[in-house]
Amino acid sequence: MVRPEEVRSASMKVEEENFKFRRFLKIHADPKDLDRRFLRLHRELFAKYDCSSCRNCCKEYRASFTDKEILKAAKLLSMTASEFSDSYLADDIEGKSIKSKPCLFLCDDGSCRVEVCKPACCKGYPYTDKTDRMGSLLSLVDSASVCPVVYEIFERLKVEYGFRRHR
Ligand code: SF4
Ligand code: SF4
Repeated sequence: MVRPEEVRSASMKVEEENFKFRRFLKIHADPKDLDRRFLRLHRELFAKYDCSSCRNCCKEYRASFTDKEILKAAKLLSMTASEFSDSYLADDIEGKSIKSKPCLFLCDDGSCRVEVCKPACCKGYPYTDKTDRMGSLLSLVDSASVCPVVYEIFERLKVEYGFRRHR
């Protein structure tokens, strides 16, 4: 598996190939079969992966919080919702998101200060276990430059689908 600090440069080397692979999947892959393959690889790779030694997603993305998630996290930190928002969040097109990167809740040991009530976007990332992966291939290609597991899933899928014989 590519190391977290190397995933961006590794993905830049295969960026064009990943976009070609996306087009290949759109033409040749069955959407439900693609979902099954993503789910199998997601389970297999994350079962062995220690995310606390990576945390690229917490460094590269700004997590967004719903009003309900703000209330829960504020309570955890013994703050009011408005104190929480003023201290940690800024308005953006997604609603309210962490105001700077890396995430203000990311600790030096890779743990999250609001782990027990982290927002849905953090719980769900990188979405490789969800359905309709065919419709999300563009954002997954983007994630392959951040998340070592997504990068590895793409590399394995290229082999599984015999992609290199079709270029
Ligand atoms: S809230 Fe926690 S899991 Fe989400 S980005 Fe911040 S540190 Fe990472
Ligand atoms: S989900 Fe991906 S990017 Fe985030 S910590 Fe785990 S391996 Fe790293």
